[in-house]
Amino acid sequence: GESPIAITPTPTSNTQTQRLADFETLTAALEYAASGNAGYNFYDAKGNLRSVLSYQALRQNARVLARRLAGLGLVHGDRVALIADTTPEFVELFYGCRYAGLIPFAMPVPVNLGSHTVYVQQLRGMLEGGQASAALANADYIGFLEEAAEGSQGLRWVGTPEQLGELPAPEMSLKANHPDEIAYLQFTSGSTRIPRGVIITERALMSNLQGIVRNGLEIRSGDRCASWLPFYHDMGLVGMVMAPMVAQVSVDYLATRDFAIRPLQWLRLISRNRATVAFSQPFGLKLCTLRVRDSDLEDLDLSSWRAAGVGAEMIRPDTLRNFAEKFAPAGFDARAFLPCYGLAESTLAVTFSQVGRGFQSLRVDAGTLVDKKMAVRLQAEGRKYSEFVNCGRPLPGHTVKVVDDAGLTLPDLRVGSVLVYGSSIMTGYFNNPEDTQKTLRPGNWLDTGDLGFLFEGDLYVTGRRTDVIIVNGRNIRAQDIEELAEQQPEVRAREASAFGITDANDVTTIVLVIECRLTSITDRQSLTSRLQRLVYMAFGVNCLVELVSPHTLPRTSSGKLSRFAARQGFIQRTNLTDQLSAESGDK
Ligand code: ATP
Ligand code: MG
Repeated sequence: GESPIAITPTPTSNTQTQRLADFETLTAALEYAASGNAGYNFYDAKGNLRSVLSYQALRQNARVLARRLAGLGLVHGDRVALIADTTPEFVELFYGCRYAGLIPFAMPVPVNLGSHTVYVQQLRGMLEGGQASAALANADYIGFLEEAAEGSQGLRWVGTPEQLGELPAPEMSLKANHPDEIAYLQFTSGSTRIPRGVIITERALMSNLQGIVRNGLEIRSGDRCASWLPFYHDMGLVGMVMAPMVAQVSVDYLATRDFAIRPLQWLRLISRNRATVAFSQPFGLKLCTLRVRDSDLEDLDLSSWRAAGVGAEMIRPDTLRNFAEKFAPAGFDARAFLPCYGLAESTLAVTFSQVGRGFQSLRVDAGTLVDKKMAVRLQAEGRKYSEFVNCGRPLPGHTVKVVDDAGLTLPDLRVGSVLVYGSSIMTGYFNNPEDTQKTLRPGNWLDTGDLGFLFEGDLYVTGRRTDVIIVNGRNIRAQDIEELAEQQPEVRAREASAFGITDANDVTTIVLVIECRLTSITDRQSLTSRLQRLVYMAFGVNCLVELVSPHTLPRTSSGKLSRFAARQGFIQRTNLTDQLSAESGDK
């Protein structure tokens, strides 16, 4: 057939002047975007343009779908679960739900098709957690969805977009949405606990989008995005599907799995379409640094890339330095780095560093950080230090504070819990008042579960509260132990998971689980005892080391290491009882 022609990067056309997200609802924004000529382009693994969905076509198709969905007997506020692969169909259904006043939520695609049961269980958990009335998946995944839906009470319709397309679209007028109604549910990644459905209202969404587009990215005419981020993760969905649309900017998409196999394809999209804005988790940048061959750099021109957003997990300064060094010959400008911090409970973004300034970092004394929870700026060379990336300032309408265990606000450079207040904070977790109450503190301060400190108005994230292991009163960060392991030649990056287990006598032991390719018993023993020695030397504590097969450490749907799941697995394998798992309330 005829090959589609990509939508050109001309967000401003004769018929339309760019408006930066000053809309009250998502569909109001789409009505406006449809009058321009920007939209979404979808590319295949080889870099060929597979399909094009202009905002104009999206509006048209979503409105038809809205009437078909209503034809299923769904009523205002019903939830619709969607397996979110990187396709035009998913996006059409998502907006279609909004035109019909329905509440969509995105569910992940299977990370690897081997883990069938786990994936089906995950889907079932979300269908139940979100109390879905209808669920859709494309032909590749409908089998999983049907299996997950078996025996479900509330589900009235399960099918593919094609099946929905065959149903009648009854004549009806589509009502405008109210800013206070729920726009969608966003499931958290599941790094620290079972994913929970965050309630996002239209008002919270539009406020976050406006902050991202105007203040975070400073979107301007001529901008264009390129993204491999999954549509079921907040950074992909809010950041790279909705934000470009509300700013009438075009996006070029590559499926996450195609990026994982060949990260070069993402850089090629940026290069070839002169993209200006592209986001990644740090591990995506690492993948590019590691896997793109130097000979491939010659054909790349990354000089158009002015906002290289990075966030969603701990950012190690070296990840950014290595990326910048590797891609400088291809025209990558390190001033493009744009660290940011956010979480599903705040729609997406909380803080952004400044566009065009590159990343800033702070080196602090490692010992004082562990013993006193104080970030003392490094004075002399030669001392052991930890280096943290500056994640910038809160978006307008948001405030960040750092508090101690008693809830008292801490001054600059003191490490404590990061709390956020503002217009894009969730209303709560869907159908989960207990967790909502634990997370939204009095005065509507969101407890992010993260630890960090403020310095001159900027936020530095140091880790997650649950990933701090307290041994004999010392606060040891799980990632510091993992980093120690990853420095060993036998251990690769992101293949170590550290956590603590506490027995009935309140004694905490550190456990380090490592993915290991060594087969010889002596090699394995040498690695194990070396790691124990190193951990003892660095932190003064003993640790248990377990070597497991490659690819067996649990990761979340968005690719983060899940220390929580690693810990559950370890407890199961070893039959140990653990106090904290009862406390956290998860099974
Ligand atoms: P769950 O809440 O289910 O355990 P999750 O917290 O990983 O999963 P998300 O809401 O997708 O789910 O991720 C938000 C979290 O990601 C933050 O709370 C924080 O721990 C981490 N994060 C985001 N940005 C940064 C950053 N710039 N630096 C360090 N960590 C970050
Ligand atoms: Mg979280």
